[in-house]
Amino acid sequence: MLTEASFTLPGFWLPDWPTLDHSKMSEQRALKNPYLDYTGPGCAQDLFDMQGNLTQHFASCISSKIGELLAIMENGLKTADPRDCTGYTGWAGIALLYLHLHSVFGDPSYLQRALDYINHSLRSLTQRWVTFLCGDAGPLAIAAVVYHRLQKPHEAEECVNRLLQLYQSVVQGKGSLPDELLYGRLGYLYSLIFINQHFQQEKIPIQYIQQICDAVMASGQNQSLRKKIQEQSPLMYEWYQEEYVGAAHGLSGIYYYLMQPGFVAEDRLSYLVKPSVNYVCQLKFQSGNYPPCVGDSRDLLVHWCHGSPGVIYMLIQAFKVFGVRQYLEDALQCGEVIWQRGLVKKGYGLCHGAAGNAYGFLALYKATQDLKHLYRACMFADWCMNYGRHGCRTPDTPFSLFEDRVPQHTCSQSAVGGVSTHEGGGERASQQQGVCPLMIGEEGE
Ligand SMILES: [Zn+2]
Repeated sequence: MLTEASFTLPGFWLPDWPTLDHSKMSEQRALKNPYLDYTGPGCAQDLFDMQGNLTQHFASCISSKIGELLAIMENGLKTADPRDCTGYTGWAGIALLYLHLHSVFGDPSYLQRALDYINHSLRSLTQRWVTFLCGDAGPLAIAAVVYHRLQKPHEAEECVNRLLQLYQSVVQGKGSLPDELLYGRLGYLYSLIFINQHFQQEKIPIQYIQQICDAVMASGQNQSLRKKIQEQSPLMYEWYQEEYVGAAHGLSGIYYYLMQPGFVAEDRLSYLVKPSVNYVCQLKFQSGNYPPCVGDSRDLLVHWCHGSPGVIYMLIQAFKVFGVRQYLEDALQCGEVIWQRGLVKKGYGLCHGAAGNAYGFLALYKATQDLKHLYRACMFADWCMNYGRHGCRTPDTPFSLFEDRVPQHTCSQSAVGGVSTHEGGGERASQQQGVCPLMIGEEGE
């Protein structure tokens, strides 16, 4: 735990922690947002300029807090599970963090650390799951990028080849492979996208990506047919017999990827994906939030994995692709929900914590250039920089990329995110490890 607040924003009122608001049941899961909302450029002058560049002062506050938290993390990792290879809770996640720090700060020692940790991860591959965050594909993809950056093309190539050896089984869906992001086809697909983004070329031919998307579409059409809901939603997906809505296991995460440029043919986007996106849109609660599953009327969860902080990416992408203003309106409403209810008691992680929720603001800022959203992201970053002072719960795997204490670098210097065990999916889901905000536009350089 951090013993002192090394940073609070000048001029902002911070109450004693924790501050609970019991006025509504749904808000018991979140702490009351103590920050003043954006009122104009004047209130953000200590944070960023009119072009959205962080001030030197704020950037250096973030940097020094990252250094502090990294030291705590390194110490905590001494007792971490030596066999956990994953990006979600294991060594690949730590490697990804250092890779990202190298991208942001350019310090070669970060790249060396990424190499050390990814080598550790590669020694513990499980051959059980195939996804970026919970399976072997993530460690292989991250290793390929680390080697590429170290200018070791043969080692990079070997990792890419090993990654592609999993490809056929993913397309065929061997072992009842689901389609969702954490354990399914899209979790593998993300590994391919990750390679292409970081190599800055089509290292993996687009046809590979299209074929996986075709398999995902066929699976969704079959499920819709089985459920006899083709009229309402031509695509439908299940994970553990539940129709999840959120980004991690559900419909919104799947549709977000299907709407990426060039992944799915335009006519199929119009007559299959768009009406399915509209089906998700009409599940919206009056509050602007979304249920964890189709048919669940409880408006409780506001995390990346379940609720508006994950659905927002699908909405913004739908606005970009189809140009329908209502999608953006719904996304802006998600932003309001996150601002009101996004400082969750579950902690600071990417999957169901404040840092993951903050990415929604960055996505809105990118889509609208409205500085209000950047300001809100900065406030959530301030919350995260006061790590451990709010009475939030400690996750099971605190020294991990997705569960918590890894310093998550929010704000316009950009970010990678964190998570924790999933909620909202009932008993079954709580026994599974979930994964997090791997949204293309919000992750990266
Ligand atoms: Zn989660």
